[in-house]
Amino acid sequence: MIKLPSILIAGAGPVGLSLALALARRGLAVRVREAQPGLGSEARASTWHPPTLEMLREWGVADAIVAKGFRVDRLQYWERETRTRVAEFEYARITGDTPFPFRLQCPQSAVTPILLEALRATGLADVRFEHALTGFEAGPDGVVAAFATPGGPRTEISEYLLGADGARSAVRKGLGLSFDGATYTDRFLLIATRFDFTPIFPGMGPVSYIFDPHEWVILMRLPEVVRVVFRLAEDEDEDLALTDNAIQNRFAHLIGIQTGPVPILHRSTYTVHRRVADTFRRGRVVLAGDAAHVNNPTGGMGMNSGIHDAHALAGAFGAIAEGGDADALLDAYATERRRVALELVQQVTDQNSRWMNARDLGERLSRNAALRAEAADPARHRAHLLRASMLDARI
Ligand SMILES: Cc1cc2nc3c(=O)[nH]c(=O)nc-3n(C[C@H](O)[C@H](O)[C@H](O)COP(=O)(O)OP(=O)(O)OC[C@H]3O[C@@H](n4cnc5c(N)ncnc54)[C@H](O)[C@@H]3O)c2cc1C
Repeated sequence: MIKLPSILIAGAGPVGLSLALALARRGLAVRVREAQPGLGSEARASTWHPPTLEMLREWGVADAIVAKGFRVDRLQYWERETRTRVAEFEYARITGDTPFPFRLQCPQSAVTPILLEALRATGLADVRFEHALTGFEAGPDGVVAAFATPGGPRTEISEYLLGADGARSAVRKGLGLSFDGATYTDRFLLIATRFDFTPIFPGMGPVSYIFDPHEWVILMRLPEVVRVVFRLAEDEDEDLALTDNAIQNRFAHLIGIQTGPVPILHRSTYTVHRRVADTFRRGRVVLAGDAAHVNNPTGGMGMNSGIHDAHALAGAFGAIAEGGDADALLDAYATERRRVALELVQQVTDQNSRWMNARDLGERLSRNAALRAEAADPARHRAHLLRASMLDARI
């Protein structure tokens, strides 16, 4: 009889929970240990791409998640200065490519409770909060992991330790891996409001990338709010940028007419990195999600690609449970997902960032001409959406 692997996951973010659910759906028992007392509630990812929705469907949670979100039927690119639309891409063009021909906008914090509930309902998961991984020792037969808990330190033994513990991953650091890459000079200011921008940008759709050589803006409709992302200037003070006055000045500049104050429901800033770990696997310890790779959030691919890691890693463990060669399967996971992070996700998100940041007039004109030409040509229109949706080569 084949013995099922014993698996311990550090981190109950979207990737750790997806991984646990995907493993449990394959009949594998999992333990999940999360440092915080509950699920994260920060305003972070909100974009769910079609292949991710396909995976969530496989795990039985897509309907519940789609019901919570806002379906985006088109993407638009605008020029801020003239308030003219550069190009529009309609998801109807990829109806034949996916059962989910739309982009879902739904806060990450509204999805993780659905994942946790589905995970608990499998009866195969032991999830504990206030368990912060503090270190581990990995040998040829298993891993001994140490946790700080309110009741004092604890150790747990497992055959595999999976690090889904985010960008500051204790698992990655415990392996002594480097996380090479760079920090972008861009910092983002995230605002949520219920303000209606459509009178100012006539015909504006639910997701709009608004180009500007000095301060681009992204507007995204979520179920109850509009999320607005501004770029902070390189030398801008974050505390000042978060004041009412500074935010209202930004909106006045975006809107261009006096409308009175824009109601602010949320405000935060964040720094953006592009980094990939040396390797996603060392022996019985494997990384997934932000623990393994982070990228520019323009285009919303970070969490999505982490969930794609979870799908691939659960597939590898499914094959191991059926007697497959663990070393070969986990190496294949680590190599392929690292390649995807470096060659696909970083390339696309860097390109998005370059487009948003283009300052030189010639560069801006050629970007706009390229987008218009793509929108006008049916094959390139579809190709644009496949790439933006992570359906292109299953990024
Ligand atoms: C403002 C913003 C907007 C974004 N928008 C998008 C988007 O639209 N689409 C997209 O795909 N991505 C987006 N991203 C990126 C996305 O949020 C991340 O890629 C995603 O959260 C990664 O999920 P994760 O589970 O790997 O890590 P995390 O969400 O960071 O979760 C890690 C979990 O591990 C826990 N943990 C940490 N250390 C330990 C430890 N020592 N022991 C136990 N537990 C630990 C943490 O508490 C946390 O719960 C955005 C990011 C930001 C900041």
